[in-house]
Amino acid sequence: MMRIQPRQSKIPVGISQCAMGDPVRYNGGHKHSKVCTELLGQCFEYVPLCPEVAIGMGVPRKPIHLLVEKGNAPVDAVRVVGVDDPGVDVTGPLRQYADSVVPQLERVRGYIFMQNSPSCGLHGVRRYLDNGHGIDSEGVGLFARRLQQHFPHLPMEEVGRLNNSELRENFLTRVFAYDAWFRYVEGEDTTLWKEGEKVPSRIARLIDFYTAYKYLLLAHNQDATRDLGRLLADSKSMSEDELAFAVRGRIMQILSRPASRKDRTNALMHSQGHLREFLNKQEKAELQRLIEDYRQGRKPLSAVLTLLRHFLPRSPNSFIHNQVLLAAEPAELGLCEFR
Ligand code: SF4
Repeated sequence: MMRIQPRQSKIPVGISQCAMGDPVRYNGGHKHSKVCTELLGQCFEYVPLCPEVAIGMGVPRKPIHLLVEKGNAPVDAVRVVGVDDPGVDVTGPLRQYADSVVPQLERVRGYIFMQNSPSCGLHGVRRYLDNGHGIDSEGVGLFARRLQQHFPHLPMEEVGRLNNSELRENFLTRVFAYDAWFRYVEGEDTTLWKEGEKVPSRIARLIDFYTAYKYLLLAHNQDATRDLGRLLADSKSMSEDELAFAVRGRIMQILSRPASRKDRTNALMHSQGHLREFLNKQEKAELQRLIEDYRQGRKPLSAVLTLLRHFLPRSPNSFIHNQVLLAAEPAELGLCEFR
């Protein structure tokens, strides 16, 4: 039985509250994202937070921005101050608020942040000098930055970028993987084992996880996947916790690079290799042709996956049955197209 797969219930995911349509912005407005609420809301159970409201700034409120002493200042060398009155400094309160919600966020498996915000922006937030001049766009919102430090492997994305179907698919892939890690490797989902069934050790579960993800990882980054294989083979000097942390980090890093058609083709060829001995001549040719059509952009990935899955029951090999690459991918769950 394949145990490493998306859960059937909704996955807890943190989100900037204004993206839910709540009027919490400094100007009393919101930035409702239908992609988040209507599309991704089908599989995410949101935990909405507005750090600026939570620290008592009120709605409406005076706007704030990131202040640096000079351009190219390190990402953490910022203060968050009032645009009109730099004497209003909410750096400490925002940081303390982020620290205070860590226990509440231990259960979330992804976070969606509002872009361009001095609190929530994840990339490219405008930074200013104390004379009010914009100096660069190298900032990260203070709340988002603090959560990055607390949860270094947590999949994070910005609301606006999720309008792009490829970035959306990639975020879903990472959230599913991060969630599956906790449920399987960290043993959070006890329903995965029948009563009385011997549960494998954590290290054995970690190896199972890597093995099940192997072809999907190859589809994202072949070199980094081989490096991860070497790390696992040469991990005797690491403690169990160190190894689990390192492996989880590498997996999330590899998945954060979108899968290329070339690397995906390679992973599909590997999958095909496990099935060839169970196929007749015509079936082999059909599968080969379909993979080639996919490689050349003439057929969608789902067409190849459907045929591979059709042949899958013929193989007795659990390795290929357990490959997450061959399980339902986000696009097939209808979560990547939005009209
Ligand atoms: S971007 Fe963040 S701080 Fe600003 S309104 Fe939205 S949730 Fe609140």
